[in-house]
Amino acid sequence: MSSTDLYRADEAELQLADPGASLASDLVDEPALEVIDLRAGYGRVEVLHGVTLTVPRGSVLALMGPNGAGKTTLLNVASGFVKPTSGCVHVSGLHVNGVAPHVFAKAGVCSIPEGRGTFPNLTVRENLRVFSHAGTASIDWIEHAAYSTFPRLAERRTQLAGTLSGGERQMLSMCRAFVSEPALLLLDEISMGLAPIVVSELYEKVGELARSGIAILLVEQFAAAAMKVADYAAIMRQGRIEMFGEPADVAGSLAEAYLGATG
Ligand code: ATP
Repeated sequence: MSSTDLYRADEAELQLADPGASLASDLVDEPALEVIDLRAGYGRVEVLHGVTLTVPRGSVLALMGPNGAGKTTLLNVASGFVKPTSGCVHVSGLHVNGVAPHVFAKAGVCSIPEGRGTFPNLTVRENLRVFSHAGTASIDWIEHAAYSTFPRLAERRTQLAGTLSGGERQMLSMCRAFVSEPALLLLDEISMGLAPIVVSELYEKVGELARSGIAILLVEQFAAAAMKVADYAAIMRQGRIEMFGEPADVAGSLAEAYLGATG
């Protein structure tokens, strides 16, 4: 069976389990994301060694930890790009282990990958138009949401994305969140390569998105900026969650985690 056939079969299975058209809205009290004893990796190399983590509906969880800890891998599992070898992945109460990324999207997951996600040879407006094909929102509404959240993009609507500043490009990439009404937004290192002032500005917008009711799981090295908007924080090291709690409680252990001391 080809991977495409496998994805089709998975989608059919999920639809049989919940035949409602709007998967995310049927299970409103469930956490946006719940992973239980999750194991996953690449080929024979296991990267996540039994991760258990919950992102409650409408909350922001900042996931931090040193390079290679497995943070991006966890986001990849939570968006369907890496399939778990064991454990459970629940999105808004749906068991989504092993289904295709577009089924995760249908269940309410929107992923903004690190340093990618815009088309450099298209203008800002054209990028928004391309994004709009992934959802049901009209291009007019997406433009309205994008430009009112990021006024700088309105000024640059006819400019090629490839000529935007890094911060502006990241803002454009985050506009994918307006295409649907995601239950869960996955943000991977949105601060990558940006000046601290731009990072603060971006995180103000992350806070606004969170206040609009979207749950956010964000991976970030820029701990100070992320902690300001986070309801919860977790430290991952060597494929395990070493600490989970309120940001103030976790902040004290960050230096130790990054320096590699054993917890
Ligand atoms: P960083 O903060 O540096 O981005 P991270 O915590 O996000 O790190 P991951 O990117 O999840 O960590 O990587 C975890 C481990 O998995 C690393 O050892 C990495 O080399 C390995 N890895 C990541 N992607 C792949 C891949 N596509 N194929 C094989 N191994 C991979």
